[in-house]
Amino acid sequence: MADLQTSLLARASVPAFRCPPGTKVHLLHLGVLRCDEGWFLQGSNASVGSCANPENKSRDLISLAALIDHPHAGLLLFETGCAEDLDVKWGAPLTDVFPRVQYDEEHKLPNAIKAAGYDIKDVKGVVFGHLHLDHAGGLEHFVGTDVPIYVHEEEFKHACWAAATGADAAVYLTDYLTLDKLNWKTFNDKQVDLFQGLTLHHAPGHTPGLCILQVNLDKDGTFIFTTDQYHVKENHTLRHPQGWLARDHTAWIRSSDMVERLQRLYNATLVYGHDLETAETLIKAKKFYE
Ligand SMILES: [Zn+2]
Repeated sequence: MADLQTSLLARASVPAFRCPPGTKVHLLHLGVLRCDEGWFLQGSNASVGSCANPENKSRDLISLAALIDHPHAGLLLFETGCAEDLDVKWGAPLTDVFPRVQYDEEHKLPNAIKAAGYDIKDVKGVVFGHLHLDHAGGLEHFVGTDVPIYVHEEEFKHACWAAATGADAAVYLTDYLTLDKLNWKTFNDKQVDLFQGLTLHHAPGHTPGLCILQVNLDKDGTFIFTTDQYHVKENHTLRHPQGWLARDHTAWIRSSDMVERLQRLYNATLVYGHDLETAETLIKAKKFYE
C-alpha cells in the first residue's frame, strides 16, 4: 500500500499527486485579441527624454482555454475565453481597446471542444484562474446548467463587487456573473487539490483571487497554467511587471516567487495567459498532452 501511494506522487517532497493514467489535456485556441503593450508590460511605450513620442507597439494575444479529460472527474474546462458576440457583450470602447482580430468558426468554444473530440454538453466542471471578461465570457454556454463552476472565494467576491459597484467594471461584466443561473463552487484555501493531479494555488496580484493550475501529467510532466499571473512570457522570463492591468504589485511579486519555486521543483512547463507564440508552439507539437 505504501508503495502504491508513493508511486502516485509526482515529487516526494510535495503532497501533490499525478493525474490518473489516461488523463488528456488539450489546449484550445479561442481566437486572437490585439492591444497596446502598455496593458501588460509596465512602462512599455512610455515617453522618455530622448524620445517624446515612441512607437506605440501593440501585440497579438491568444485567447486560451484547456480541456482536461480526467478519468475520475470527467471532462473539465480550465477557463472559457471571451463571449461569442463581443459587440453585444463588451461594446465600445472595449472592442476598440482590445479588438479581436482573429475569430473564425473553429475558435468558438463549442467548436474548439468538438475539434478535440468532445462535446461541450459533456463538460462536468469549469475551473477558473480568474473571472476577467476575456476568461469567463464563455460561461454564457453554461447558464442554466448545474455544471459546477470552481473559483476562489476571493475572486468571486471581488468580481461581483467590482462589477456591481463599477470599481473595476471594465474587466468584470455582470452578464456572466449571474448569481442564480450558474452553479458556483468556491474554495478559500491557499492550495486546493481539486482532483487527483490537479492543484490550484492562490496567486493574488493581477486579481485578488487569481489561482494558477498545476497539472501533474503521467507522461508529459507537470504543466502550470498561469492564467494572467503572466499575460506574456516576459512577465515571467524577464520578471517584467504587468502594465495598466496590474492591480496589487507587491502581491504579484510574491505570487511570482511562488510560481518560480513550483516551476523549479517540478521542472514544469508554463502556459501563460495570452502568449501567442508559447501556446501555438505547444498546440503544434502535440494533439494533446498526457
Ligand atoms: Zn486575460
